Amino acid sequence: MTHISYDEWKRYVKNELNETDLERYDDHLYTCDQCLELYLEAVNEVETELPVLSNEDEFTNLIMAQVSESKGKIPVTKIPFYQKTLFHYAIAVAMTLLFTMSGVFQSITTYVDAVEGPELKESTPSVTEELVNKTFAWMDHMKNKGAGN
Ligand SMILES: [Zn+2]
Repeated sequence: MTHISYDEWKRYVKNELNETDLERYDDHLYTCDQCLELYLEAVNEVETELPVLSNEDEFTNLIMAQVSESKGKIPVTKIPFYQKTLFHYAIAVAMTLLFTMSGVFQSITTYVDAVEGPELKESTPSVTEELVNKTFAWMDHMKNKGAGN
């Protein structure tokens, strides 16, 4: 598989590529985690290079100006530059949230395993059980401390 360079991903985010490359990069993104990471980095960097949108009205005016300017020249289906970039940014945010949440779920699972483990083999008190008991004692301690305030 031929990978796509970081600079190329920046051009992709900035919408500087022709239709053929755009489609090729799109396809590649679905099949390559390595390039997905580069792409997300590129989105982050390009996002900081973009002019700050101070308010929504300004943003809307920019879009409307672009739309009326391009009327008759460019096919209606063409996505305005800013809108496309925001879309890329939204994907990056969604991906970050997803990664964060899956990390959280993993910790919860580990915690449940640690709590349930000793109960299944009650006859043999283990280091794990002691650790869990200590953790509970510590949690009770913290709870009491909090209630005392
Ligand atoms: Zn790749």
